[in-house]
Amino acid sequence: MSRIVYVNGRYLPHAEAGVGVLDRGFLFGDAVYEVCEVRGGRIIDEAPHVTRLGRSLAEIGMEIPMTPAALGRVLRETVRRNRVDLGMVFLQVSRGECARSKGRDFYFPEEGTPPTLVCTARNVSRTTIEKRWGAGIAVKTIPDNRWGRCDIKTSMLLAACLAKEEAKADGAGEAWFVDAEGKVTEGASSNAWIVDKEGRLVTRPAGRDILRGTARMRLIDVLKREKLELVERAFTVEEAQSAREAFVTSATAIVLPVVKIDGRPIGNGAPGALSERLRAIFHEIAVVGER
Ligand code: PLP
Repeated sequence: MSRIVYVNGRYLPHAEAGVGVLDRGFLFGDAVYEVCEVRGGRIIDEAPHVTRLGRSLAEIGMEIPMTPAALGRVLRETVRRNRVDLGMVFLQVSRGECARSKGRDFYFPEEGTPPTLVCTARNVSRTTIEKRWGAGIAVKTIPDNRWGRCDIKTSMLLAACLAKEEAKADGAGEAWFVDAEGKVTEGASSNAWIVDKEGRLVTRPAGRDILRGTARMRLIDVLKREKLELVERAFTVEEAQSAREAFVTSATAIVLPVVKIDGRPIGNGAPGALSERLRAIFHEIAVVGER
């Protein structure tokens, strides 16, 4: 089955889908995006993703390209046409193309230039996900060399790509960025959490230095329901290494245990019991969309 890609109003076979060579997303990373989890063919927590997309766009001076309801239809139709049962749906919005008369041009294109909107979806292997959840991942820490607006979900992801590659070379499944004070900001594509000695859940407060993750937000709802204590503060790498548990959250990994940080085992070196429990109950709170 050929994959189907939504590009600016049309659903096209993958091989026929594309964006222009003057697209600002390609030239400058002048674009934002969203990734939602799909379970049982349904999109999880669509509303917070679409709200965050609207915020990311507003922060870079763009309007949402269609109403949230219309965006939801594009997301669902892309999931349906690609027969995604368990997987992900991606939405990319760039500021459109530079005018051909000008060519590559830093300044924003003329008013009325349509944005580029692309939606793709794909299945992920259940076995692969379950294996990762079962084994946990190692993390490698890397100095945070990203820009000052990590709260915007921009497709300008070179720092994340390089960090992930470096982590992979070390056998780690995620990179954790660390600020100038030695405190963890977040993962290259996830939010970072620890469980301290008293059993409190600790994660960095949502500021401009991290992305306000949808899974982070949902997990906070789970903690409230379960009456577990949340502390929003930055933590050091050393503190994480001696924590009871550590894990990352993202829309695709949900709650993924971290079993090693820079080669040092966390707890007994196996996924923590609380992380596993939180993952198991996460979807009791997340909002499941329609088909
Ligand atoms: N932080 C970064 C840098 C990310 O790229 C992501 C997800 O891609 C997250 C956090 C987690 O966000 P979410 O829970 O919405 O997937």
